[in-house]
Amino acid sequence: MDSDRPVFFSAQAADARRSGLVSPRPAELPALIQNWSGPRPLRLCGGGTTSRAAVADHWTVDLQTHFKRLDWQPEDQSVWIGAGCRMGDVLEALLPHGRTVAAGLSGLPGLGYVLTGGMGPLSRQMGLAVDQVLEVHGVWGDGSPFALSRADDFGSLEWRGLCGAAPFLGVVSELRLTTHPLEALWVEQPVVSPDQLPELMLQAEAADSRASLQWHWQSGDAVLLLRISAVESAGAQRIEGLHHLPSLRGSTPMPPRCHAEIVGLLGPACAGAWGPLMPELGRLLQQRPHPGCSLACQQLGGATQRVPVEATSFVHRNAAWKPWITAAWTPGDASGQMRSLAWLEQVWQLLQPVCPGVHLAQFHDHLPFHQKELEAAFGPWLPGLRQLKERLDPAGTLPTL
Ligand SMILES: Cc1cc2nc3c(=O)[nH]c(=O)nc-3n(C[C@H](O)[C@H](O)[C@H](O)COP(=O)(O)OP(=O)(O)OC[C@H]3O[C@@H](n4cnc5c(N)ncnc54)[C@H](O)[C@@H]3O)c2cc1C
Repeated sequence: MDSDRPVFFSAQAADARRSGLVSPRPAELPALIQNWSGPRPLRLCGGGTTSRAAVADHWTVDLQTHFKRLDWQPEDQSVWIGAGCRMGDVLEALLPHGRTVAAGLSGLPGLGYVLTGGMGPLSRQMGLAVDQVLEVHGVWGDGSPFALSRADDFGSLEWRGLCGAAPFLGVVSELRLTTHPLEALWVEQPVVSPDQLPELMLQAEAADSRASLQWHWQSGDAVLLLRISAVESAGAQRIEGLHHLPSLRGSTPMPPRCHAEIVGLLGPACAGAWGPLMPELGRLLQQRPHPGCSLACQQLGGATQRVPVEATSFVHRNAAWKPWITAAWTPGDASGQMRSLAWLEQVWQLLQPVCPGVHLAQFHDHLPFHQKELEAAFGPWLPGLRQLKERLDPAGTLPTL
């Protein structure tokens, strides 16, 4: 079952001295998980975009090779997506049907995108990706197979756990997602100065939910905006859908291949409260320890706020902004790594009053702030989630919660 085929998009995962790789076929997955006797936790590689998809001295389950199902369901215009597909594959496969899904800013992420929440430029209109899940199939951490559906299992602890915290509880082999009509979008990419951000965010908070604002702040004095709207607006560029989305970074050159950790935060609509933070944020961005260190942000609200807190493990339903902080360093540069991670924590601390929550799209069970991250991600639901994990993954075959 061993192969070297999966693509670890994360350079850190690609460089990790993993113990090995196992590429099961769907029918082999339950026995593999049930009888696992190697080092725990097992790592999973779906899209392979996170730093924990492969880890030194641990095995990775490759889902890319044999979990490629991508099936259009004409009866209800939904789509089955295997755990080895990337979101970009899904967007492409739906084009002939004139449909799309609530994808994010990039086509690279795999099912981890959906399972950890999944927020994108159309979230304010359509909701989070995890809110579009109709059925989920897979194997719990104890090896027993499951097949859950929104129709039968919505309201159960298992459904809630899978929608937002699946990586701790089970291995999802495939899921069925609602699709939406493919519609043209209008895109603007102005460059603004950082001190304009609070006012622009305030305007975005009041804007129609068919529009969203995202921004990328890399150098000290320039912030790239990416405004996306389903409503035609003068001066904006028309694109055919999310499959043609330009990069949030614009034409900013990519830093050389680096290792990175990313922490995503969540905060309510309070753009005015960002104003007093801007001078210190500007100073931190100016003094970033590596050119790959950055701060970016995407907008939520509208449909993402209309789901009850208890329905999923994504508990921050009041969130309107998700800033994410990237700490980057040159591979092998241990002191650079420490400096960049310390910088990340400084930016996090500064933003914490306006963004107290965490979006656990990438987890960091190797870093000192893992516990803080779990508490900020799941809040009062964390004890219940831990009880669920004890029942479904008693041996801790999947990452620790
Ligand atoms: C370029 C880029 C753009 C991004 N843009 C957005 C965005 O716009 N919006 C947003 O919300 N997020 C975004 N993300 C974050 C991304 O969605 C998360 O990092 C997500 O977890 C990646 O999933 P993956 O399958 O690609 O990664 P992997 O590294 O393969 O897995 C990520 C995590 O999910 C778990 N996992 C993966 N597959 C399964 C499975 N089948 N069953 C159980 N657990 C599984 C893994 O255990 C791992 O912990 C972006 C990431 C990148 C790299």
